[in-house]
Amino acid sequence: MFPQHPFIDGKSRAPREPQRLQLTDPATDEPLTEVSAAGLAEVDDAVAGAQRAFESGWRDLPPGKRAEILFAVATILREHADEIARLESRNIGKPITDALDEAALGARVFEYYAGAVSKFFGETIPVARGGFNFTLRQPMGVVAAIVPWNFPFPIACWKAAPALAAGNCVVLKPASLSPLTAIRLGELAHEAGLPAGVLQVVPGAGGAIGDALVEHPLVRKISFTGSTEIGAHIMQLAARGIKRVSLELGGKSPNIIFADADVDKAAAASPMSVFANAGQDCCARSRVFVERPVFDRFVEKFLETTRVLKVGDPADPETQIGPLVSSQQREKVEAYLAAAKGREIIGGDRPAGRGAYLRPAIALGCETSDPVWREEVFGPVVCIRPFDDEASMLREVNDSPYGLSGSVWTNDLKRALRVARRVESGVLSINSHASVHVEAPFGGFKQSGLGRDLGMSALEGYTELKNIFISED
Ligand code: NAD
Repeated sequence: MFPQHPFIDGKSRAPREPQRLQLTDPATDEPLTEVSAAGLAEVDDAVAGAQRAFESGWRDLPPGKRAEILFAVATILREHADEIARLESRNIGKPITDALDEAALGARVFEYYAGAVSKFFGETIPVARGGFNFTLRQPMGVVAAIVPWNFPFPIACWKAAPALAAGNCVVLKPASLSPLTAIRLGELAHEAGLPAGVLQVVPGAGGAIGDALVEHPLVRKISFTGSTEIGAHIMQLAARGIKRVSLELGGKSPNIIFADADVDKAAAASPMSVFANAGQDCCARSRVFVERPVFDRFVEKFLETTRVLKVGDPADPETQIGPLVSSQQREKVEAYLAAAKGREIIGGDRPAGRGAYLRPAIALGCETSDPVWREEVFGPVVCIRPFDDEASMLREVNDSPYGLSGSVWTNDLKRALRVARRVESGVLSINSHASVHVEAPFGGFKQSGLGRDLGMSALEGYTELKNIFISED
């Protein structure tokens, strides 16, 4: 059974104006199910209900009680991990093994922020005039969380959990392509004890309800993950009300391999750093810089590893790369490959049969002015280029509007730290491709975003800092 309606004030609610989101199974191109889209009336109801829930109890709940409820949410998510993973996999074609990992990640995020409730506090300050001066971290009120379709469940969790832990109420808007696990999150959290209205879920197209949500006078903060273009639009709308925003946006992350690295290890690990989730990953290491003496060896090993990646049915636990989210997304990716004519493209063809599948594509010989090199393709496409010296390589690395993530492979510790400092990105890994750690801040430099998700930093972004002075005179 698929969830069908927005989840508002603790109930699954059919909207007043019936508009349906038609979902297609990207693995088969067959219709999957329909979900009713929230209209403007439901956005109003959801925000008003969240504000009521905020004022009538959630913000004043003793912290221990709030933590207890969030732990209960984590538990129910773990109990339903199979169901959540299956929904996600059918909805967006995510390989089931990845979907199971992401369901567990969502639960883990709730556990982390349940524990964080008691470890996030203000400070006392020795002010010049004496007396007693201290700070409080106060919730903002209603937070709008707007999330994309590539990691629907974990991103919904990593926005909702810290916002709720800090004492806010949340209106969650999933992408129109991927509403199923967001609705289930709302339902399950309520079943676990989250009071009605504290987490509302309004599926619907961004163009139809997104602006109304962002501009709603009771919404104090917008936490957005999605494209840089829509992020800029949201920032503009938010500016009118001086609303708080945090933005997690696009990326074009570098993967830098020095000749002194364990080249075989780097080459074996690198394909899935860009092709996982069919390349629909903001952290995809889609620009690979390889020091010239090891370029051929790296490329050979990279190709060898890519050739044996299992592209296929997302329901199969062995599958590593499923279909893209839709046939339209596949066409966008193919347009980049078509425009890269004249470059050597290996792979990038459609397997026979149904579904929005595309085999991984490796582009060699790209110039740094090529769109496939510069722009976020959001598909299984990588460009690999040789470099000769560190300084010019770093100039190329940083010659991008984005700055989200990246990797450096070297066995020279000094170089690793020097280069890691110089790469303009919010997240970086050395001899690894890991980007996301529940306990550590995640976000971008430059046009990759503003503010940080995850870790204790996320809590700062969901609170206002108040300073209180007590006179001792
Ligand atoms: P998108 O920007 O098209 O949509 C994201 C969300 O915004 C969706 O819920 C959408 O409905 C909503 N939206 C669209 N128009 C809106 C409007 N006018 N007002 C309010 N909301 C609106 O992005 P997408 O295609 O769903 O996701 C892909 C993008 O997300 C990529 O650029 C990717 O890099 C980025 N992303 C970033 C991160 C990160 O953490 N930095 C993580 C995942 C995805």
